[in-house]
Amino acid sequence: MKTLEALSFDNRYARLPDIFYTRHQPMPLQGQFLIHFNQDVAHRLGLDPSEAERDDFVDIVTGAKPLPGYEPLAMCYSGHQFGHYVPRLGDGRALLLGQITTESGEYWDWHLKGGGLTAYSRDGDGRAVLRSSIREYLCSAAMQGLGIATTQALCLTGSEEEVYRENIETGAMILRVAPSHIRFGSFEFLYYTERFDALKILADYVIEYHYPQLREQPQPYLGLLREVVQVTATMIAQWQAVGFAHGVMNTDNLSVLGLTMDYGPFGFLDTYQPGFICNHSDHSGRYAFDRQPEIALFNLSCFAQTLLPLLEGTPEAAGEQAMAVLKSFQPQYQSCYDALMRSKLGLATSRAEDGALVDELLALMAKNQVDYTILFRALGQAEITQRNTSARDLFLDREACDLWLEKYQARLDHEAGDSVERCARMNAINPKR
Ligand code: AMP
Ligand code: MG
Repeated sequence: MKTLEALSFDNRYARLPDIFYTRHQPMPLQGQFLIHFNQDVAHRLGLDPSEAERDDFVDIVTGAKPLPGYEPLAMCYSGHQFGHYVPRLGDGRALLLGQITTESGEYWDWHLKGGGLTAYSRDGDGRAVLRSSIREYLCSAAMQGLGIATTQALCLTGSEEEVYRENIETGAMILRVAPSHIRFGSFEFLYYTERFDALKILADYVIEYHYPQLREQPQPYLGLLREVVQVTATMIAQWQAVGFAHGVMNTDNLSVLGLTMDYGPFGFLDTYQPGFICNHSDHSGRYAFDRQPEIALFNLSCFAQTLLPLLEGTPEAAGEQAMAVLKSFQPQYQSCYDALMRSKLGLATSRAEDGALVDELLALMAKNQVDYTILFRALGQAEITQRNTSARDLFLDREACDLWLEKYQARLDHEAGDSVERCARMNAINPKR
């Protein structure tokens, strides 16, 4: 485990052409203090957790005292917001401080959110408030615990400074870490400004550091699209299986590594409502829970378009190849989702009727307003049928529930293991509430 200085920062992103970013120094808040430090994340980074006890720790993690190798910059990107192209977004309140490489060769960006104004702040104040920073801090840790790829957070700091939103709030900063913060929108910015040379540099950078297996492939950029489709399909299937709604699935909030990122108005399902909208400014329900797979495909199509100038062959051939890869999203998503739902029901094998069993359960849950998380946990308790009152009691229509439980029991009869073993498996995948 290393000291902060020994982590050896080297910002590879700062070696890219100037149009990829703008350099800025972080602007400290008054009276900053440490609120929480995540030891698990520190271990992952190879950082000695006792470093958090240093007197200068808060200054270092808020960028006020730079470590050797910090090269703070705001990343430039654009993106489709609520379906409309916005030509210039970028990190309006976040700074990539630097990057480290761990001993096992993992790359980690140190990305400070709430660090002050940048060239991309537009009308914003460049700040983050404590309330939403706590939400991001906790949710990214929860997603990591649920086995869902996500940015993580090393620490959360508060301050004595007031920040104005709808009310007066407390200014805060969160130090996000992730292998990369490159978004679909990072590619879109270069595509729509027709900087195709720079676009190739960005694609090569992503391949070099994050998908090195593509380097030797005959068509690395088509391979990149294939990888991004696959990681996105997996991430979305996992979101749907745990009942997570992101809330702002704009292309600038989608990671090319399939990491859940830019936590804003996210929410988890309480009662199973497929049309759940967690973003109060999403009036049309574009980012409703059950639309996430479809929106992911829209976003992937935006990403695919940016790669067209890099693909081989005639424009028609390139377009057809990209379309063929995009068509693989739905089946990949579906097979990942189906496998997760089978696991949630404790099914170790797969049978033709499983999809209908899941669909019927979800329809019943929607009609009876059953809590999504509590139900799967309850199903993982010993006996099925009427004796499983903890599941049955969640339904208003007990007869309909009994009918489904009978089908479920019949399906379980085709499984090899006993109920104790099944429940252990279910409790390992179905989170508690
Ligand atoms: P989001 O959809 O929340 O990820 O943000 C969309 C864009 O607005 C990004 O470019 C953000 O950096 C920027 N932004 C959000 N909040 C602020 C803020 N308080 N100050 C400056 N820029 C912001
Ligand atoms: Mg964002």
